[in-house]
This record gives sequence, C-alpha cells and structure tokens, in this order.
Amino acid sequence: MIGVLALQGDVREHLAALTACGGTRAVPVRRPSELDAVDALVIPGGESTTMSRLLQTFDLLDPLRKRIVDGMPAYGSCAGMILLASEVLDGRPDQQQLGGLDVVVRRNAFGRQVDSFETDLEFAGLPDGPVRAVFIRAPWVESVGPAVEVLATVPARTLTGADAGAAAGRAVAVRQGSVIATAFHPELTGDLRVHGLFCELVRAAAG
Ligand code: GLN
Repeated sequence: MIGVLALQGDVREHLAALTACGGTRAVPVRRPSELDAVDALVIPGGESTTMSRLLQTFDLLDPLRKRIVDGMPAYGSCAGMILLASEVLDGRPDQQQLGGLDVVVRRNAFGRQVDSFETDLEFAGLPDGPVRAVFIRAPWVESVGPAVEVLATVPARTLTGADAGAAAGRAVAVRQGSVIATAFHPELTGDLRVHGLFCELVRAAAG
C-alpha cells in the first residue's frame, strides 16, 4: 500500500498514476495513523513551505522523519523533492526538511525566464526513450552526497529549442536507496514509467 501525502498539492494526480500502474493500492495520508498503515509514501508537487507548515500542524513531521530514517521508500516530485532534501537553498528560514536524500536543492532555481517549461530527458534505468518532463517553478539539485545517484539532468535545449543556459546539465532526478525524487511532474503527463519504477522499488523493499 502506497500513501500520497495529502496536505496540499497535486495529490489526486499521484493517486491516479499509482493506481494506473497496477499491483499496488494508493491511499491519501493526512494523519499519523494513516502514515503507519502504508509501506511507502509519495510527496506530491505543490508548495514546499506550505507543506512543511502543514506537516507540523498535522503532527506528521516527526513520524514521517522517523519512517524515512527507518527505510520507508519515498518518492517526491518537485515540492516533494525539496522536502526530502537534506538542505535547501532559497527556502524559507523556518522550512523543515525530511532528509531522506543527501542532496542540496535550490528552490525555484530556474528563475523567471524559464519558470515553467517542458523538455524531454533521458532517465537512467527507464527503457523506451526519454521522459517528457514538466517543470513548474521547479528546484534543481545543486550537489549530491556520495550515496546519491543522478538519474536525469537538464539537456542543453528545452522543447521549444530555447537554450537551457545555466540550467543545462543540472541534476533533476536522483535516487538514494529506495528514496527517489524528480524536480518535474511525471504525474501530469500520463507516462507512468517513473511511478512504475517507484512501485518496483516498493515491491523490492517489501521483499
Ligand atoms: N516552487 C515550489 C516550492 O517551493 C515547488 C513547485 C512545484 O511543486 N511545482 O515548493
């Protein structure tokens, strides 16, 4: 059973993508008891500072940190990536981290000109060609620790042919053990491969 953190953000889209993958049940998680019941958790896209605040309000921050330390598989998209990172640049001073990923991320990294854009990118471990990546006021990964594998980086040009500039080559999908994160939103494209990869990780972790 895979939970989707349902405090804020694009919860429905993740529940739909997980359900479409088949073989797992997907349920919303808002309370500690619901967190206890799941084998893994997706942290959706949305607004990391708001989710951080709501995690504290709903008494989920410490239980969730503990589950992650104990090895629960987790997948974060965009704001979810920010929350899973051990360190955030350009965050709010009171923003809390879950710490499943030994990475430094830069919030809203793509800046105004390419605030939101789409591109196709190669994603390590996914056969059948590139992934359509939708970036919405996305972070990028500024640096990774030794246990972190980079799964995808920004290509030199976006789909419209625009020069990716300082964004080119930045890491935008990472994995550390059974924790993965993407700066983009596979839940919005109908391409189920990233969710499928996560479901496989969850099944492997469950033995
Ligand atoms: N900019 C948002 C944040 O800081 C993330 C945007 C998203 O999840 N699409 O949390």
